[in-house]
Amino acid sequence: MALNDHVDLNGFMDGVTRRNPHQPEFCQAVQEVAEDIFDFIEDKEEYHAQQILRRIAEPDRIVSFRVCWEDDQGNIRVQRGWRVQNNNAIGPYKGGIRFHPSVNESVLKFLAFEQTFKNALTGLPMGGGKGGSNFNPKGKSVREIMRFCQSFMTELYRHIGADVDVPAGDIGVGGREIGFMFGQYKRITNNFTGVLTGKGLEWGGSLIRTEATGYGAVYFLANMLAVKGEDLTGKTAVISGSGNVATHAAEKVVQLGGKVLTLSDSGGFIYDADGITQEKIDWVKSHKTHRRGRIEDYITAFPRATFHAGKTPWGVPCDVALPCATQNELLGEDARTLVANGCRAVSEGANMPTDLDGVHVFKAAKLLYAPGKAANAGGVAVSGLEMSQNSERRSWKEDELQQMLKDIMSGIHKSCLKYGDEGGGYIDYVKGANIAGFKKVADAMLAFGV
Ligand code: GLU
Repeated sequence: MALNDHVDLNGFMDGVTRRNPHQPEFCQAVQEVAEDIFDFIEDKEEYHAQQILRRIAEPDRIVSFRVCWEDDQGNIRVQRGWRVQNNNAIGPYKGGIRFHPSVNESVLKFLAFEQTFKNALTGLPMGGGKGGSNFNPKGKSVREIMRFCQSFMTELYRHIGADVDVPAGDIGVGGREIGFMFGQYKRITNNFTGVLTGKGLEWGGSLIRTEATGYGAVYFLANMLAVKGEDLTGKTAVISGSGNVATHAAEKVVQLGGKVLTLSDSGGFIYDADGITQEKIDWVKSHKTHRRGRIEDYITAFPRATFHAGKTPWGVPCDVALPCATQNELLGEDARTLVANGCRAVSEGANMPTDLDGVHVFKAAKLLYAPGKAANAGGVAVSGLEMSQNSERRSWKEDELQQMLKDIMSGIHKSCLKYGDEGGGYIDYVKGANIAGFKKVADAMLAFGV
């Protein structure tokens, strides 16, 4: 008799909460998955007997280390860095590095757990991991950021490798930071390998990696709408965030004929009733991403827009919504507002932007709702393609990569349909993504034994 035969979802979650005290984000991510997996494995004795879900919800390894660096005033600063290697059943650990003051072990464990399912969904051979630090890049000089990245890699290098663990960017880590970290890796190891993705085009990077997460989230949205015989033409979109994911999601919505009404950052959101056009998106990209300015400044450049300090954009009526900022930015109450205002579809560019209450609201309203692990997988998918190009020592052309990204997003959509079609025209994309991702990893784990 399997140890947990008698354990139900609540019993399982009690155990997770007990073993991971003060880690609310991690427990939330596990619960969202467990809610679907418990039904799925009910009649599958071997998954129970082998404790597969319990094992996936226990990271293979967490490396925690000190990062010391010197600021421009000559002060020695001390920070914590982590790499969570969650699961490598189907390929080397893979996932981004986040530099943000909100980073802690719970946040990185949730991200690494989610990444495991997301990476499985892409169909590429990648396991799940995530890393980062509570270092805040905001207000730091380029030299300070360089010193921090170098110091971070001076410890991290011994835990990663092209066939071991392949980090990439995430919040606070873009091409520049990847460059500093790759340079340090190369300096220490004398190895030029595909150990990081999101690299510059001159030194092993892939075309469309920058655009991939945002574009992919919109391709997924278009796939969901197509099931209903609709497309994005003429649809209004509310988008949160104003970084790499949000701006590229906005760009793709505009290209597909939609009208983007909002963008945001931690200070509030801007609302532009005229629509945020490509020209305006370019302004945001250079202001926010390159000059690290505030979204608030948008109203100086485009005075017909308004700025709403301290608010999220979910109260703005729209046809589709794309949360592209960060975890738990869209709460139950926001989900109710979106549904009440007639929103038809939600595609998550960020990781776990909707809290559990919100997920339940979207499911109950039978909205077209794509969780991040499906909708934002385009970024890591192109990272996987970057790994392939590095292994082959070649670079694919842009149109080839664009087509591969589209195909991968359609493939993920199909997997969600396979396990999430509830009949009566309702597709539970959360369930579909959870089960499809779980099954692939679980079956590999079964093959390996304990
Ligand atoms: N940080 C991104 C994500 O959340 C990309 C990870 C990667 O490219 O490895 O999926």
